[in-house]
Amino acid sequence: MIVIKFGGTSVMDAERMRRAIDIVAARREQSPVVVVSALAGVTNELVEATRLSAGGDFEAAQERVDAIRERHESIGHELIGQKSDFLESFQAQLRKHTGQISDILRAIALVEDTSLRARDKIIAIGEKLSSVLFSYAMRTRTLVSVHVDSENVIVTDERFGEATPLMEPTREAAAKILIPEIERSRIPVMGGFFGRSREGGTTTLGRGGSDLSAAIVGAAIGAEEIQIWTDVDGMMTSDPRLIPEAKVIELISYVEAAELAWFGAKVLHPKTIAPAVERGIAIRVLNSHNPASRGTLITEKGTERRGPRAIALKRGITVVHVTSNQMLGAHGFLARIFEVFARNEVAVDLVTTSEISVSVTIDRTERLEPIREELAAFSRVEIERDRAIIAMVGRDVISDRSIGARAIEALDQVPISMLSIGSSGLNLSIVVPEQDAERAIREIHRRVFEAAMEVA
Ligand code: ADP
Ligand code: ASP
Ligand code: MG
Repeated sequence: MIVIKFGGTSVMDAERMRRAIDIVAARREQSPVVVVSALAGVTNELVEATRLSAGGDFEAAQERVDAIRERHESIGHELIGQKSDFLESFQAQLRKHTGQISDILRAIALVEDTSLRARDKIIAIGEKLSSVLFSYAMRTRTLVSVHVDSENVIVTDERFGEATPLMEPTREAAAKILIPEIERSRIPVMGGFFGRSREGGTTTLGRGGSDLSAAIVGAAIGAEEIQIWTDVDGMMTSDPRLIPEAKVIELISYVEAAELAWFGAKVLHPKTIAPAVERGIAIRVLNSHNPASRGTLITEKGTERRGPRAIALKRGITVVHVTSNQMLGAHGFLARIFEVFARNEVAVDLVTTSEISVSVTIDRTERLEPIREELAAFSRVEIERDRAIIAMVGRDVISDRSIGARAIEALDQVPISMLSIGSSGLNLSIVVPEQDAERAIREIHRRVFEAAMEVA
């Protein structure tokens, strides 16, 4: 069994969807389960429609929904038009789901308020629509597919907007629902990004979460491989949109890939690796626009290579510097500081300390004010906004003694707010102003990766 996940750009129009189906068809002997994202741009449109409704403008929100319906309708005509009975039942489902969005949006507009719960219900519909469409399109190609509602398989906690999967009940549901279909040689097609909480609400897994859905499904059925099909040739030495010279990495370990994803390599959702690690399942990142390319294989071992493998950029970072003389020789001070972040449920990415100060980075700022107040009760607090983390990642990343120097040299004239080397030796992270970050990452990439371009 394998899991094949297609991102939004891999299913964005009829031509792309046709090619994605070719990819599934070529792998039908491997008993695939297909997980699809919403068509590129649809989730953003649904988020925008929700925002418009919450502001009271239902008409404008409904225009977005109409456009989404028309887009799916037109792809449906192209891919399943020749089978009128399929087309009719597809259209009925399309009307049902878009009608449901309109109902919720109307309610939101009336009360001019939206809960995360209502928002999740709306934005999950992007994946509901794409998966229904994909499933019908497969059937017209005589591939025996069955649409499976991810709400019946992926069980999560109640944290709307950023739900955590509960693996045990998910495994049970997969055994009941997915495995029998696969045993009957049918190909389940599921929407990524959403599931259902134990109490019964539709939940989403965080933006970009379809990768995570694929990993959850892979772990739940004990797949041999989880394939993430996207729009680039694999995990690369950096984001090719920023650095056209970036090269594909053929083989990388779970921990390196997780670190890269965590520090901004959007090609994989940061939580994707964990479910795969648990069952030792290989992840392969592949290009649906270039299926012949070998992609990147992510495994427990990766390669023996030491030194930097890739460099990532994470924007929208806030640095909190906490200083206090009370820290001198005192114990329990760090615990007090971290308790404040923990109480506010804000994850800290990087930490550096000196004798009297602690600096941390966070990427969520909704709770920044209460955090500042609580810290200010016992220390001086300074906040730097609009920062970015540049993270150079690889096993024993600075094993070559010139690497640190080359990275720092590349930052000539760029002010550095923080610098940290993870104790695992997996990453060298540097915090700089966001406005300097692109220039800085290009320069580091040039000096560290393009000088000796042997990455595989
Ligand atoms: P999908 O819609 O298929 O999930 P995403 O847009 O989420 O695709 O992720 C793919 C994008 O990730 C690429 O187009 C690329 O710009 C970006 N990216 C960032 N860092 C990397 C990296 N190190 N390697 C490859 N792609 C990267
Ligand atoms: N459609 C969702 C998003 O845009 C999930 C995904 O594509 O992975 O965030
Ligand atoms: Mg993605």
